[in-house]
Amino acid sequence: LIQDDAVTGILDLGDTLEGPWVADLAIAAAYAFMHEQATAEAVGTLVGAYDAVRPLNADEQQALVPLLRARLATSVVLTAQRAAMPNDAPTLQSAEAAIKRASAMPPRALEQLLCAGCRVHRSGGVNTARLAARRAAVLPGVLSLSYAEPLHIVRGRGQYLISSDGRAYLDMVNNVCHVGHCNDHVVRATAKQSARLNTNTRYLHEGVLNWADRLVATMPDALDTVLFVNSGSEANELALRLARAATGATDVAVIDGAYHGNTSACIDMSPYKFNGAGGRGCPDWVHVVPAPDVYRGEHRGDDAGAAYALEAACVLGEAAAKGRAVAAFFAESLLSCGGQVPLPPGYLPATIEHVRKAGALYVADEVQVGFGRVGDAMWGFQLHDVVPDIVVLGKPIGNGHPIGAVVTTRAIAEAFTATGMEFFSTFGGNPVSAAVGNAVLDVIEQEGLMKRAARLGARMRAGLEQLRDRVPSIGDIRGAGLFLGVEFVHDHETLEPAADIASAVVNAMRERGVLLSTDGPLQNVIKIKPPMVLTEGDVDMVLRLLGDVCSAHA
Ligand code: PMP
Repeated sequence: LIQDDAVTGILDLGDTLEGPWVADLAIAAAYAFMHEQATAEAVGTLVGAYDAVRPLNADEQQALVPLLRARLATSVVLTAQRAAMPNDAPTLQSAEAAIKRASAMPPRALEQLLCAGCRVHRSGGVNTARLAARRAAVLPGVLSLSYAEPLHIVRGRGQYLISSDGRAYLDMVNNVCHVGHCNDHVVRATAKQSARLNTNTRYLHEGVLNWADRLVATMPDALDTVLFVNSGSEANELALRLARAATGATDVAVIDGAYHGNTSACIDMSPYKFNGAGGRGCPDWVHVVPAPDVYRGEHRGDDAGAAYALEAACVLGEAAAKGRAVAAFFAESLLSCGGQVPLPPGYLPATIEHVRKAGALYVADEVQVGFGRVGDAMWGFQLHDVVPDIVVLGKPIGNGHPIGAVVTTRAIAEAFTATGMEFFSTFGGNPVSAAVGNAVLDVIEQEGLMKRAARLGARMRAGLEQLRDRVPSIGDIRGAGLFLGVEFVHDHETLEPAADIASAVVNAMRERGVLLSTDGPLQNVIKIKPPMVLTEGDVDMVLRLLGDVCSAHA
């Protein structure tokens, strides 16, 4: 700039860029928020004044809060980076305080306050109460909703779920979307195959064969035959039929607290259900062995595995004494609904020995824990040096696409064939499901998700252990890889369960944008089983937030 032949200033256009108008306003609003007494209403005055000159359209109003928050986050990072310069210290503090203020309410609520004076009124915000009422009118009450104030989730991406008010939640509990919500590779594979062909397994198709070959390759050699269905329940149901066909026996043994699915037979095999609300108790063809819980159960310490195996042997013995022949022992490789309980060392090999002596088969239910989640192995049973007769797969196998599968030995499959009754599942193993299944395996392999589960699980666990030193009501931390449980108690001697605290922590974490849930027979265990694309940063954030929340509630 020149004035009176002298250079009075220089404009550096190197930093200019073309961007949306609303970005300017968002920056101004972010700076306004940094004033100590700034309220959303006060910043709304600024937005209203801008709108009086240049009206904001609906899209701009929607973009304002995310842009404002992004600007504040940038300010914090930049000023923290320059923290060595003393002049910047107050800026850092005020930017941090402003972020807290701008995050104190849901984005949609903040947007409404900021844009209260705007001339264009943005409607279209979804009223969750209205949706809940619609849901109650057309879906039965038996289908529960998570959280007292239900979430309206409209998008998923990786380890995040995004609600209709624009808030992103870190998903620490949905193990089904194993390789991440809406994983690009899986979505593309689904779309591509849907556009080409979707029939059934009565035609030759390479997709299903490649998929079956790849699943079999992850299993011990003896498990070489696959049957495809559409859910974990169906897969357990089919495993039951296989075991009955192969042994000629009818009964089953299951672990206390287990859940194996929603069909009639699976409910009968699920103490979690038949002993719970609305349950009709244990049917005569089901024999329940104690859950080998070394924290709360009868046996603890190094010999607990052997002691619990003996208990299982007793149950099998009692069944035999009553003249009841057991076809199979169904066992999850880590108890999930039973409270995130790992099986103690020695338990499974010794129990399986008793099971086989009783003439029964061993069915490993890997519906929740399978596909590398435990970190050190692809399948949970592989942590225990045992080979099942039948393995049941579900949930993560399709990353949200409804798929179940049963992997077994050729001899058992032949015994099933020999009954003469044909087996057919209309949708099981169809070309689209096969494309999805192959794509999920691709991602697990290519992104090294099993190793990642081991690494991040160890990090999470170490952080939780540190937290336990500070939080009196954390009783036990357990699990493997990214399948962890945190048990809350009121008293470390009596182990009085603290379901109230576990639930308060889960709700407070949801307020902070992290989704968790409680489970276990006493509802006092927080479950951690996130999509496996989680990052170190996510783990550290969850630990930090859990630390804050536990200081307030636990
Ligand atoms: N087995 C286990 C261990 C499960 O956790 C579940 C589902 N929670 C099932 C079987 C049943 O699977 P689905 O809901 O896909 O029928």
